[in-house]
Amino acid sequence: MSRGSTAVIIGGGVIGASIAWALTKRGIACTVIDKGAFCAEASTASAGMLCPQAEMLDNVEHLRMFAKSQAMHRPWTEELEEISRISVHYIQEGTYRVVFTEEEERTARAALAHAPPSVEWISATEVLRDEPDISGDIRGAISFPEDGQLHPVYLAKALKAALSRVGCKLVEWTPALGLLMDHGRVSGARTVARALAWYGDKAATPVLLEEITRHLGGDVLPVRDSNIRHTQASPDQGAMPDLAYLLHTLAMVKDERAIPVLRAIVDKIDSTLERFHDNRSGIFHYVDSVCEIAEGIGSAACIPALERLHRMPLFHGHVCTLMVQPDFFEERLAYLEITIARALARCGCRHGLNVLVHYLSDRRHTLVRYAHHELVDITGQTIGEDEATWRTYVQAMREVPVRPWQTPRGAS
Ligand SMILES: Cc1cc2nc3c(=O)[nH]c(=O)nc-3n(C[C@H](O)[C@H](O)[C@H](O)COP(=O)(O)OP(=O)(O)OC[C@H]3O[C@@H](n4cnc5c(N)ncnc54)[C@H](O)[C@@H]3O)c2cc1C
Repeated sequence: MSRGSTAVIIGGGVIGASIAWALTKRGIACTVIDKGAFCAEASTASAGMLCPQAEMLDNVEHLRMFAKSQAMHRPWTEELEEISRISVHYIQEGTYRVVFTEEEERTARAALAHAPPSVEWISATEVLRDEPDISGDIRGAISFPEDGQLHPVYLAKALKAALSRVGCKLVEWTPALGLLMDHGRVSGARTVARALAWYGDKAATPVLLEEITRHLGGDVLPVRDSNIRHTQASPDQGAMPDLAYLLHTLAMVKDERAIPVLRAIVDKIDSTLERFHDNRSGIFHYVDSVCEIAEGIGSAACIPALERLHRMPLFHGHVCTLMVQPDFFEERLAYLEITIARALARCGCRHGLNVLVHYLSDRRHTLVRYAHHELVDITGQTIGEDEATWRTYVQAMREVPVRPWQTPRGAS
């Protein structure tokens, strides 16, 4: 790779980040993309132990390579610490690889011939003197005094800061959907579909549909599996299944080719309260994204699937006319019911308008304002919030106009 070229690294764990660091130092511009947050997977789950040789004694080539990488590690982290000004909390206390059987002892002693001079065999008595809690039933150990440990969370922070400081671009929450090939060589990654979708470009649709179809393979909708911390009870959190992110992206394209996907999602929604309470299931986000797809398209072809959704008991009949504040989940379900109604109405369905009108009698004023805002936007009428007046108006409408969602997503 020549200087001045650009490398795209898929995966911002410690491996991808280290490659980016090495390339950037050689003058190669790098972009690291990650489907989630930077270094949020194995690289921060790690215990941070740096004891490669102790883990594999029976392969001479590996032993040599591990010894070499071990020697390089501390200077590498020191450089990172200097550039990032973040300590990785490195400690060097060594490792004992404890040996229990005669055969293990043979392998361990043979490995010594290929290890650096500091690595040595020590007797069971010496091991137990240093580590009295170890079982007495040992033959001895190999001591690796150069081994150490660092704090993986701080290594991730240091890598991130150092990479930013040297101008490496980090792009989070952007999965690579596939590789672009050019004459048998990888020439790029298919993340561009999201960017195209953002601008409403229908060129994104086939790529998104292909990826969505892959996620839709099973009998049930996939749950959230990304490692996003600090989530609360569903649905009040930003974390959703990867498929729901893709559906929201598809919604931005406003393309009728998305309608079969919309139907397939509705078919697979498990609309039990138990499932809704499960903060990994993403039911809230699946319903929300399906509605967003439908109202962006604004087609009568979306109505049967939306009506089916609304007939599910979980998403039906949440208007509250009592003076009691219902629980958190009830309020969220009411919000979803309005969202379904809004999508129906925007596709030209009178039933959707009627549900919105019904919500004008709700005691929760934020929901009344939400339903009223949609009624005004869809019909163009600036009637107040009186339910009876709106009911009369909707009944008198000769036909319900199709009114697709117009405002580009992301616009405030
Ligand atoms: C519990 C645990 C303890 C461990 N303890 C130690 C230890 O003490 N010492 C040690 O040396 N090793 C340890 N390891 C192993 C070490 O953590 C891993 O070998 C190392 O973190 C791997 O780094 P990585 O960058 O390859 O993977 P990851 O950190 O998993 O990074 C891969 C990245 O790729 C991203 N990605 C995946 N698919 C896509 C896509 N399609 N598009 C864009 N991005 C994508 C992911 O979101 C992720 O961020 C431990 C591992 C675990 C799980």
